[in-house]
Amino acid sequence: MSAANWANFEVIGRLLSHGVDPNARSNGNVTALHLAINSQTEDAENVFHSVRYLLQAPGIDASVVSGSGDTPLSLARRSYEKVYYLLKEHLDRFTSSVPSIHDVVFVQFRRVARVARARDDGVALCNDAETVENGDSESTAIPILNHRRKDAKFCMECNHEAPIRSHHCPLCKMCVLRKDHHCFVTGGCVGLGNQRYFLTFLFWCCVGLLLAVPIMWSYMNATVAPWYPLGFFYYAGPIALIRWALGYSTFGSFCLASLFSFAIGGLCSALGFFGMNVFYTCYGYTMYEYHSAPIREAFDGDGNSLGERFRLVFGKNWLLNFIVPQIWNQPLLTQQIANNLFRDNTSIYNVKGIVILDQDGNRVIAKYYDKKMFGTVKEQKAFEKSMFQKTQRNTSAEILLLDGVTCLYRSNVDLYIYVLGSNRENELILESLLNCVYDSISTVLRKVVEKKALIDNMDTIILILDEVCDEGVVMETDVQAVVSRCALRGDEISLTDQSFSQVGMSFFTSAQERVKWSLLK
Ligand SMILES: [Zn+2]
Ligand SMILES: [Zn+2]
Repeated sequence: MSAANWANFEVIGRLLSHGVDPNARSNGNVTALHLAINSQTEDAENVFHSVRYLLQAPGIDASVVSGSGDTPLSLARRSYEKVYYLLKEHLDRFTSSVPSIHDVVFVQFRRVARVARARDDGVALCNDAETVENGDSESTAIPILNHRRKDAKFCMECNHEAPIRSHHCPLCKMCVLRKDHHCFVTGGCVGLGNQRYFLTFLFWCCVGLLLAVPIMWSYMNATVAPWYPLGFFYYAGPIALIRWALGYSTFGSFCLASLFSFAIGGLCSALGFFGMNVFYTCYGYTMYEYHSAPIREAFDGDGNSLGERFRLVFGKNWLLNFIVPQIWNQPLLTQQIANNLFRDNTSIYNVKGIVILDQDGNRVIAKYYDKKMFGTVKEQKAFEKSMFQKTQRNTSAEILLLDGVTCLYRSNVDLYIYVLGSNRENELILESLLNCVYDSISTVLRKVVEKKALIDNMDTIILILDEVCDEGVVMETDVQAVVSRCALRGDEISLTDQSFSQVGMSFFTSAQERVKWSLLK
C-alpha cells in the first residue's frame, strides 16, 4: 500500500509477482489502485507504470468504489491524462456493459451446469436455467453457486474465469468451451456453442458438391474434351491455365476447369472434416480434446450413448437440424456431461493409491482410490508385484514410473511405503503426501517403523490414511494435524519433532505474511 502511495512501480511489480492480493483494502475502503493514482509523487511516468502494473494483476477489480465514493476512474480524471486513458481502456475491455460473446457462451453454459447438477433426474434443458435464476429452486442452486470457483480456471489472457474444459484461442481472443478447432475458412472458433452449425454447414457442402461435381464432369466431357483417354487432364485448373495461355483452349473452359478443381478440393475437405467431426462426436470428444492425451485420459467422453452425444451438440430431435436449424432446441446436458464440462480441478489431479508392503512384497495395507485402474484385487496384486520388483532392482531411486503411474516410496527396515499418482500429478505434491504419511506413522509408532509395530497399531494407521487422503484428493500434509486427529493417546506422543521441510514451509509462509503486511501498511 505504501509502495502504491509513493507510486513505486518496481516494488509494486515485485509484490504482485509474489501473489499479493491486488484488491486488498486499506482504511476508507481504498485499494492500491486508488493510492497509486492519487499518489504523492509528481512524476507522471511513475504513476503511469504503477497503474499499468496493477491493472495487469490477475483478478484486479478496477471499478471498486472507495469510502469517499471515488472510483479509480474518477480519481484518474483529476490526475494525469495518460493514466486516465489507460484505465478507461482497461475498463472498456473487461467490464463493458454489452455482454461479449465470451460472456454469453459461458454465462449460459454455467447456468446449464448448475441446473444439471441441481436436478435429480439428471437431464436439464437450458430453459430450466431461467427458473433457477428466478428463484424457484434457489435452495438447490445456492450451494453450487458458492463453490463456483472450484469448477473454473483463471485465463490470464482474458483476465476472466473460464470452465476447466474451455481452451483459450489467441486468434479469437476468447476462451472457447469444448473447443473443436479454429476454423480458418469461416474465421472463427468451433466450440460447443456453434458446432451444430458447423456440422450442418459441412453436411450441406458435401451434398451440394456431390451433386455439382458429376454435372460439371459430364458438361466438360461434352464441351471441353471427352475424358477418355487423356481429356480429364484438361479438367485440372493449372493445366487448363497453361492451355489457355498457349491458345489451345478458350477462357470459358479455363474458368470451368478452375471451378471444377475448386469443387473437387472443397468436396474432399468437406467430406473429411464432416467425417472427422462425426467420428469425434460419436466418441464424445472434440477434435482438440481427442488429440490431447492428458485431456482424453482425464474423462471417458461426454455422454454414455450416441444419442446423448449428438443431443449435446444439437439438442433434442437432433437429426431435424440437418433440414431446419433447431435453434430453440438447446444443447442437452446430462449429469455426467455437466460434471465433465464443469469438473472440479481436484478430480483430475488426484492420488491413485497408498500402499504399504513388507520386505517380501506382501501387502500390509493398501488403499486404492482409482477404481478404474485398480478395480479388482487381482489387478492390484499384479501391480504391487511388478512395482515391488522394480523397487528391488533399483534401490537408489525413490521414484519410479509404471504403467503411467508415478510411484514414490520410502522404505525402513522391513516396510515399503508407496504413494501412487497419475503421471500428470505434481511430484512435489506426491512427495509431501508421502512424507506426511511416513512421518505420521513414525510419530504414532514412536519412530519404530516396523511391520510388527505397524500391525499392532493397524487401526490408527488406517485412520491416518483416511485423514491424509480422501477419495484420491489430498486432504492434509501437516504431520501434527494428522497425528493429533488420529492419535488415541495423543498426550503420550511427542509433537515437537518437526522435520526440516516443515520448518522451511513455516518460514516461507511467515515471509509471505510479512510481504502482505508491508503492502497493507
Ligand atoms: Zn481465455
Ligand atoms: Zn479461434
